[in-house]
Order: sequence, then structure tokens, then C-alpha cells
Amino acid sequence: MQWIARSRTQARRTASSSLDPSTPRGRPLSTSANAREHIEAILRDLARQYLPSKDLREGETALAKIVAERDDPFRVLISTILSQRTRDEMTEKASRQLFAKYDRPEAMAEADLEDLVRLIRPVGFYRQKAAQLQRVSRVLLQRHGGLVPRTYEELLALPQVGPKTANCVLVYGYGEPRIPTDTHVHRVSNRLGLVRTKTPEATEQRLMRVVPKKWWLHVNELFIRFGKDLCRPIRPRCPSCAFTSFCHHYRTVVARRRPPRRR
Ligand code: SF4
Repeated sequence: MQWIARSRTQARRTASSSLDPSTPRGRPLSTSANAREHIEAILRDLARQYLPSKDLREGETALAKIVAERDDPFRVLISTILSQRTRDEMTEKASRQLFAKYDRPEAMAEADLEDLVRLIRPVGFYRQKAAQLQRVSRVLLQRHGGLVPRTYEELLALPQVGPKTANCVLVYGYGEPRIPTDTHVHRVSNRLGLVRTKTPEATEQRLMRVVPKKWWLHVNELFIRFGKDLCRPIRPRCPSCAFTSFCHHYRTVVARRRPPRRR
């Protein structure tokens, strides 16, 4: 299988290099009105940097690369299950190994379990996930003729499919506007002050109210990229970020830290 090689150069650029001059500055995103005012500018800025073509197949996440390889909702579903509690790089590696041998539900349902375990070993919980892949493949064959359903409700009824996985299949597999919300999207949204939520599920619901629908397809890809590049879980690279003037986390936490005392 020929996987598309991608340049990482663009990912290393900082948000400040491309900030839209019209980005509103100077106010915290403490209200829905403020969040709506800023979200358009934030997403426009991130899209210019990380996804200038607005085509998800040009993205850098494992799912975007899988879709670029072949538009196939089954692959998206399987890779999303593999991605649970796993780094993107490992998801991509395991997916590539798996799909080289098994890329249809029929084949996966009948595969030798130990062979699946071996192929997906790069991901966390590989033994449980191998069994889950077989289970979901069998359900697809029994209930859906081997096809991946394309409604949120039908997807949620599949084993191992929660809100994030269902939304990933809809966005990356079918191009339906939804907002898959993982820990990166949850963290970035809360730090910026676009939402004030405790769980990714609540963030998803809130984002769908404040983000214009035309951006839903892209929020996951853009926030994951930004969350890995600058707004990292630990020690975010705020000095290189263009959003400090209105970022809730920066204003309320980072900027208030006292500089270390001189001795
Ligand atoms: S926490 Fe720092 S890196 Fe993240 S959005 Fe705010 S200013 Fe940018």
C-alpha cells in the first residue's frame, strides 16, 4: 500500500505567522456572543495554516491520511476504534499493517484473532481491540449487509462506537458536518474560552451551538493539529501563539503566573 508522504514543515509553523489581521483582540471569550465573534477568525486562521485547501484529504491526522488513501467509511470506523487511547502515529502504523491484509468486514470477521492482535500491536489495548474489530465487523455483516451505516443513531448502536467514533465516521467517512470531539478538541476549546465544559461530550454539544456549520467538518482536524503543535497538553507554547490576547487560559492562568524571584 502506497501511503502518501507528507511534509511536516507546515505543521511546524506557528499560528502567529499567519494570523488574520482582522482577528478580534483584547476581550476574553466569556460569553457566547464573544465566542461566536472570535471563532470564525480563529478557524479561518488555523485553516490557512493547517488546511489551506479545506480538503480533509490534505490533512495530517491519521484519519485524514486514511481517507486520502481511499474514501472508505469502513477503514475510518476501524481506524477510529484503533485510535482510542492511542497516539496518532501508532494508529496510522497499525491501520496500515491491518488494511494491507484485512480491509473488508468479511475478511476481518473471519480472520484469525491472533493474526489481528499481531497486526495491530502498535496501538494500546491491542488484544481487546482485536476482539472489538471482529465484533463490529460481524455486526456490520449481520445488520447492515457489510456496509457502515451513515446515521449517528445507527452508528451509536454498533459495538465500540461512542459519540466521537460515530462523528469521525460521519466526518471523515461520509463528509457529513459533525464535530468529533476528542481530548485535544476539548482542551483547546476550553482553553480558548469557546466553551466551559467538563467532558468532551459536553464540548461537542456546546461547539455545535457556537461554531458556524460551515466549519464543523474542519474543527476536529484543525484543533487536533493546533493542539499538538502549539496548544499542547503540558506546557503550551503560548509565546508563539497568536491568540494570547483573548485566550481564556492565557489571561487567567499563564499571564498571572509570577515570574521567578531573583536571588
Ligand atoms: S493556551 Fe496558549 S497556546 Fe493554547 S490557545 Fe491559549 S495562548 Fe494559545
